[in-house]
Amino acid sequence: MLSSRFSILRILLLGGFALGSLGLHGALAQEADHDHVHGVGQLNVAVDGDLLLIELISPAMDLLGFAHSPQTEIQRLAVDAARAHLQAPERLFAPTPAAGCVRIATEIEIEIELDVDVYASYAFDCQHPLALRELSIGFFETFPDARALRVQLLTETRQDALELSPDDQRLPL
Ligand SMILES: [Zn+2]
Repeated sequence: MLSSRFSILRILLLGGFALGSLGLHGALAQEADHDHVHGVGQLNVAVDGDLLLIELISPAMDLLGFAHSPQTEIQRLAVDAARAHLQAPERLFAPTPAAGCVRIATEIEIEIELDVDVYASYAFDCQHPLALRELSIGFFETFPDARALRVQLLTETRQDALELSPDDQRLPL
């Protein structure tokens, strides 16, 4: 039940915004190798009832400071640190606390060998979805090499494209 609904949201995002996702992501990203712009990531956000879906597609460079296989202990630690940050998305894209959103699914792919994009997606179940007003963005403080996030937003009442940056970190839902 849950997983099928999660997939439907993915398809919505994919169909609505024609962005790489899930199974298609790896193939698209490899073809698009170095088509990405370092410093600029993509964030897809969908709200459907009590479900909040967040999907991040970011150049590996922005999260790691390099875009090749880790060759030193420091680089291996950087990969571990980035993965740990991505596994705690509540600090990167925090839903309004009053909405009571609890993370129910997490998916992270880091394939730095090819300098493809890092991919992370999250699903939250929100107890009080009407209280969900915004995402509080900690992404740029966590990953200082990231300069911008292009956001595609899809809610039951709104479809919008906007851009976040260290100077403008408001993401109203
Ligand atoms: Zn690159």
